Amino acid sequence: MSHSNTSIVPHLIAGVRHTSQSENLRLNFNPGTGEPISQVPLDDIQAVEKAIRSAAQAFPAWSSTPVGDRIQPLFKFKSLLESHIDELAEIIVREHGKTTAEAVGSVRRGIDCIEHACGAPILMMGRSLPQIAVSSSFCRTQDEGGIGIDSSVDRLPIGVCVGITPFNFPMMVPLWMWPMAVACGNTFVLKPSERDPMSTVRAFELAHDAGFPEGVLNLVHGGPDVVNHLIKHDDVKAVSFVGSTTAGKYIYETGSAHDKRVQCMCGAKNFSIIMPDANKEAAIDGVFGSAFGNTGQRCLAGSVVVAVGDAAEWLVPGLVEKAKAFHVGLGGDNKTQMGPLQDLAAKDRVLSYIDAGITAGADLLVDGRKTQMPSTGCFVGPTIFDNTTSDMSIVNEEIFGPVLSVIRSDSLDSAVNEVNKSDYGNMSVIFTDSGHAAHRFETTVQAGMIGVNVGVPAPMAAFPFAGWKKSFFGDLHTNGEDGVRFFTKSRVTVRRWI
Ligand code: NAD
Repeated sequence: MSHSNTSIVPHLIAGVRHTSQSENLRLNFNPGTGEPISQVPLDDIQAVEKAIRSAAQAFPAWSSTPVGDRIQPLFKFKSLLESHIDELAEIIVREHGKTTAEAVGSVRRGIDCIEHACGAPILMMGRSLPQIAVSSSFCRTQDEGGIGIDSSVDRLPIGVCVGITPFNFPMMVPLWMWPMAVACGNTFVLKPSERDPMSTVRAFELAHDAGFPEGVLNLVHGGPDVVNHLIKHDDVKAVSFVGSTTAGKYIYETGSAHDKRVQCMCGAKNFSIIMPDANKEAAIDGVFGSAFGNTGQRCLAGSVVVAVGDAAEWLVPGLVEKAKAFHVGLGGDNKTQMGPLQDLAAKDRVLSYIDAGITAGADLLVDGRKTQMPSTGCFVGPTIFDNTTSDMSIVNEEIFGPVLSVIRSDSLDSAVNEVNKSDYGNMSVIFTDSGHAAHRFETTVQAGMIGVNVGVPAPMAAFPFAGWKKSFFGDLHTNGEDGVRFFTKSRVTVRRWI
């Protein structure tokens, strides 16, 4: 249904804005004020067809463009993002609810991915080895007069690639995908989250201004119907997904069954372990920032903390004191340390987990329903439960909101055991001054991204980013060397000069 006072967010296909004629629209609100801000088309399959066609038509010329030329628009795009960072952050604050500092930080982390992709001429480079064998039967010992076999492997683009992204980092997560994909010679169709796509659209407009040729980059909106069309389409060769485990598992299985290369970075439940010997201030700040930064809406949120031995004696009061002093308000307000959840459904979900924690018998030390905060909008304040156990839903399910559960444990090994019981394995961190404890943690914990004395171990783009267990489906992670491998196929050539 159309709401005349808000505009319909356009698709961007071959650099041109297309306003959908679809009647099936999602109305989005500013999560801080409740003001309606945009409408997003949900099932415009015609637009999807057009976007894939445009990307497929652009692929032959783009993939044969020298890689040094392909990265020129990325350099320009990086500087355009830098000069528009305030504008982009303002859009993110308005439609997502992040604080201004968080929004700016998310654009900066996206820029890191662009800088990494600008290294494509080196990153895509193949390998070669002359004289790997000496005869046509590839034997290494038989001498046939010195005529040898040389071998090399090249990395080549794969075709039209698709990105499907979540609401929690609308600017940054798409930049995990498309800059590397297009630097490697692919063309791209992005489907951003239908919940907050406006900053993504603005970034695509800037990318167009940076000079990408028509059809290399395309953006379409939609919900599950659009995703299904993209992941089953014959002309799509690879699908990169970031979002919940339920959607990711489905997309991995369905995309793979339709012969796509698929990587799905999924949901999480992350544990921080605090040893009694940890630097107290660093541990309290690290755990607090990890649990409540971005209002807990991040795949690297440390939403369970395991206090070992008497660490709980200083950790728990330290966290409670910080939570009670935390300023919750509109993301654009200078005083605000934590913004709202992104929509009312997210708020209801978080409130239902607070009820579940109380029913399960956990001790509610800080009740985020009672925080001093704006009465309208999707606000829930920082919430802390103590004496929680691994059978409680607040410990074993992803809440994706500002709720921190404390588990008390008597040893490092039993703390690691708490972490390893989780179905998820995105990240885990330890705070300790002991090299022995840090090493024991590193060698026994089950998670794809781990940290020592850091609250959020988010790897920079030169390193791969993804988890283990139900936090990831696929083989190659995003970013780092894995990102280059995901967006290229290898070809080996065997040569004999006769
Ligand atoms: P989501 O799964 O609801 O949506 C993500 C994308 O998938 C959206 O574009 C959406 O349109 C699409 N989608 C949703 N349901 C679908 C379905 N049934 N069929 C086809 N497509 C579908 O996730 P979200 O709520 O936007 O984001 C939060 C989730 O993302 C959390 O679970 C969080 O942990 C995860 N996340 C993971 C990482 C990571 O790197 N592992 C990073 C960021 C977010």
